[in-house]
Amino acid sequence: MHLSLEALSKSFGTNRVIDNVTVDFGELRSLALIGPSGGGKSTLLRIIAGLEAPDSGGFALDGQHVGADEESLRAHRLHLGVVFQAYNLFPHLTALANITLPLEKVHGIAPSAAEEIAREALRRFALADHAHKKPAELSGGQKQRVAIARAIAIKPRLLLFDEPTSALDPEMTAEVLDVIEELKNEGRDFLLVTHEMGFARHVADRVAFLAQGRIIEHGPAGELFAAPQSRECRDFLARILRH
Ligand code: ADP
Ligand code: MG
Repeated sequence: MHLSLEALSKSFGTNRVIDNVTVDFGELRSLALIGPSGGGKSTLLRIIAGLEAPDSGGFALDGQHVGADEESLRAHRLHLGVVFQAYNLFPHLTALANITLPLEKVHGIAPSAAEEIAREALRRFALADHAHKKPAELSGGQKQRVAIARAIAIKPRLLLFDEPTSALDPEMTAEVLDVIEELKNEGRDFLLVTHEMGFARHVADRVAFLAQGRIIEHGPAGELFAAPQSRECRDFLARILRH
């Protein structure tokens, strides 16, 4: 993918959360977004996901500018798979129905074809035996894998993950990170907000450090972690890597 942000700004009330960000990340397969809590990572991801409209500016994916009007946001969303930190599954639906519902309602796929796609996606993540279960009957790792299965079922051009493991214990974190790594090895493009620095370094081509609504620096993962250029990023990494 080729992702660039163009004078992008977003405020909530008087709180300027994304502050006039212009950056061209260039051609890449996977981008990790890191930075302090409250820095604007989720907001930026939601804007790129087409779930939130910026106040001004915009972004382009593969050279295509995405407008802020509802129609272009809807068209843009059709090609993306999004996974959030707290498994945004419908609690009253089975794992299978969580996947078939958007396929039918959003993508207009016939029920029988949707079920076939959903069963295949569940099989792919070793969830076939859990197809009939509701989220409350699944472990955290299983729920997150259902969310990932749902995200890839539409064959998105880009996957967006917002701290997909932050609600999970270490074993389930590993389970979900394995799945993300598998998707990378399959050649899928993704953008990942994460606190897992080791994983970000391992799996992302590029890393961007976002704080106070600005991309303070970005670069190849190895370089940024080995030699962060800004004091803010150095302090951030020192703080979280201390433990
Ligand atoms: P991060 O993901 O880096 O922790 P967020 O993008 O979630 O940061 O939040 C950045 C800032 O925007 C925070 O100050 C947060 O309180 C504020 N914020 C985020 N979403 C909303 C919202 N829907 N309404 C009001 N304020 C929000
Ligand atoms: Mg966040």
